[in-house]
Amino acid sequence: MWTCRNCNVRFALGEIEPQIDEEGFFFICPGCDYRNKLVNIGPDVAGQPQLVQRDYE
Ligand SMILES: [Zn+2]
Repeated sequence: MWTCRNCNVRFALGEIEPQIDEEGFFFICPGCDYRNKLVNIGPDVAGQPQLVQRDYE
């Protein structure tokens, strides 16, 4: 579950496509266009990145 830090809307995993740029992973809130930072704690057993939000970011 990801939460927009700007408008507090929550999204199920897979509901939003994560993006990556030179600063790292993030997703754009479809409601307010806020850039929410994600951290890759992966890879998981399938070799896929596991993207989570830190509580303070
Ligand atoms: Zn938002």
